[in-house]
Amino acid sequence: MSKRDFKDYICRPFCKFFREGHKEEMACRGASVIEHMVQSGLLNPPAMPQTGKSSHLWDQRDPGLEVCVCRHCEFRAEGCDFQSPNRPPDAEPCGGYILLSLLMEQGMLTLSNIEEMCSA
Ligand code: SF4
Repeated sequence: MSKRDFKDYICRPFCKFFREGHKEEMACRGASVIEHMVQSGLLNPPAMPQTGKSSHLWDQRDPGLEVCVCRHCEFRAEGCDFQSPNRPPDAEPCGGYILLSLLMEQGMLTLSNIEEMCSA
């Protein structure tokens, strides 16, 4: 099991909202779902992509991620622009959402894996 902090493999490489040294009181739901998968052994951080962030991963909102990840995210309640009904054209999701999309695109995860983790 990796001892790396989730900031190393989710926030720094993928999240435009991450601020080094800024202590957040909470994590986005996307990051916490990935972290649960790492702790349960479903994902192995060294084997996960470190690059590959691209807007094609979020140009279309994924309805599956919307239902089982974003709907329960505290940042959404705080006003996540990406999941806002009036989404600005340049809105970008958090790093957790991006990495989940990338893992699905690369065949390392399915929406069913995510749904199971969210309902556990
Ligand atoms: S895209 Fe927004 S609502 Fe969805 S998990 Fe990330 S911060 Fe939360």
